[in-house]
Amino acid sequence: MLGLMAPDSQPNPDRITTSPGTYVLVLTLGRSSRIKVGALGRRSFAAGVYLYVGSARGPGGLRARIAHHRRDPRSLHWHIDYLRRHARVTGVLLATGSKKRECDWARRLHGNDDLASAVAGFGASDCDCGTHLFFVAEAGGRLLERIGRHFHPVIVQSVCWSG
Ligand SMILES: [Zn+2]
Repeated sequence: MLGLMAPDSQPNPDRITTSPGTYVLVLTLGRSSRIKVGALGRRSFAAGVYLYVGSARGPGGLRARIAHHRRDPRSLHWHIDYLRRHARVTGVLLATGSKKRECDWARRLHGNDDLASAVAGFGASDCDCGTHLFFVAEAGGRLLERIGRHFHPVIVQSVCWSG
């Protein structure tokens, strides 16, 4: 729909590695919404595409974490779970390694002209980043590929789910 497909798209989530790592989750919000985000309270979200930076270092690594994000959340633990109730997960960029990269990635996305910082403090309760959530102003053509260039050469996989 929004041209998110990359040539190396791999639609099978079972192919995602169980290694620990860092990821950028791509979410599509179908319509503008007011959404309660835990302690951050009710916030306005414009319809469109969002990028969320996180890391997975628990059991099952990236595979388990991405599977969590793709399920409808039953309990709301992280800020992203609240947004996830209203938005579809349409892709992810992944990098393996136990090094904690998420804040470095959030800083890099912060300087990207194609992106706008979304809700202040989102996903950043345990760090001093402004936010770990970004709104994609213009989501046309090869979004994952373009975003992935920021993290070259550490990106090892990109996955898209259409529909
Ligand atoms: Zn951070």
